[in-house]
Amino acid sequence: MAFSGAIIDLDGVLYLGSTPIQGAPAAIRTLRSAGIKVRFLTNNSTLTRVAAAKRLSSMGMPAEEGDILASAYGAARYIKEKGGRSALVLGEDGLREELVNAGIEAIQAGRGQSSGFQYTVVGLDRMADYGKMVDAMRCILDGSKFVATNEDATFPTEMGDYPGAGVLVSAISTAVGRKPDVVIGKPNPYLFEFALEDMGLKPEEVVVVGDRIDTDIVGGKRVGAKTCLVLTGVKKNPNLESLEGESKPDFILKSISEIEKIIGAL
Ligand SMILES: [Mg+2]
Repeated sequence: MAFSGAIIDLDGVLYLGSTPIQGAPAAIRTLRSAGIKVRFLTNNSTLTRVAAAKRLSSMGMPAEEGDILASAYGAARYIKEKGGRSALVLGEDGLREELVNAGIEAIQAGRGQSSGFQYTVVGLDRMADYGKMVDAMRCILDGSKFVATNEDATFPTEMGDYPGAGVLVSAISTAVGRKPDVVIGKPNPYLFEFALEDMGLKPEEVVVVGDRIDTDIVGGKRVGAKTCLVLTGVKKNPNLESLEGESKPDFILKSISEIEKIIGAL
């Protein structure tokens, strides 16, 4: 029997920076023409769902807003579910935009405003500076809930791995003396569960495809899906021979371009 659904990571699986992975568009076509539902799930907090869909479409992988589960959107959804109305953002515009889209008053850190926010949301900010960290720290110490979009140590680019959102989350954690109250992205189940519900599928009918062991593979396993590691993304995965338990992918492919090999493997 074939898989009925695929939850596919973006960075390092479908593209590196602005360069699509060779064979990725064909792989997405192969999945869709086999009747497999496809959702894209990314920890990358810098993109709105609309921006991610546009980016994929421009690379030859047609996608709509509803096909994308991203940690910025997840953070907005989470805060809305909790009845939150205001957030300070240590993150890029895409994160703030998703919060605003959800009806949350969201202001970027770094303007000296650090009290009165119900939530402080920390994600990747490639323009992060000390003033932004001061605001985020003070806001949390002032009683705001600490939400991390994700804790990825790095993310892959055409130039190699770069520091990820986890670096900023760690900095703020160190400053306030505690971990985030919630982490939205992988390996936590929040976005996976939403994707499964949206596809109307059980986890065992779905394969999670990603390039990171500690987020994609561990997260996929924890929700009960099959997992497939591809080797086109982050460079610093642990030794593949030594993986075990929730870190051991069900399948390893050199690239998503080989996806045909596992479609019928369920
Ligand atoms: Mg990735």
